[in-house]
Amino acid sequence: MAGRKKTFPCGHVGKGKFCHRCVQEEERRRNEEKRKQEQARAKSEWNDRLTAPSVRHLRLNQLPTEAARRMLDVIGELKNGKNYQAFKGKRLKLMRKRDIISIPIGRDHRLICRVRRGQPLEFIAALTHEAYSQRLSSGGWEAWV
Ligand SMILES: [Zn+2]
Repeated sequence: MAGRKKTFPCGHVGKGKFCHRCVQEEERRRNEEKRKQEQARAKSEWNDRLTAPSVRHLRLNQLPTEAARRMLDVIGELKNGKNYQAFKGKRLKLMRKRDIISIPIGRDHRLICRVRRGQPLEFIAALTHEAYSQRLSSGGWEAWV
């Protein structure tokens, strides 16, 4: 009598050879687990990007995620040989620091680099626009160069 309802060992009532409700719940649980693992993997990948040896000193984890992401994107493109001017980067001529370049990242952040002839671009600092302005006006640029 396949159609008859019965009580499964789990306590649920239903038809068939096994409890479909428990199977569904198990599947849901597994999907949830998978989603969590995926999240954890994405998080650890993101952490790896933030703490990669070439950018670790920039302490990008102190910036909002979106700003950090943009910084990493720009850094990646600069490393691939794209010119800083493509990102509206400017030399600090007024500060007589022609080898220092300030690149706006969104509206609120700046990426500071140093460019020297025959050398790869050096990433010096990632900071808020506010901190950047303060640093400029206090003439505290020396420490970076
Ligand atoms: Zn069940």
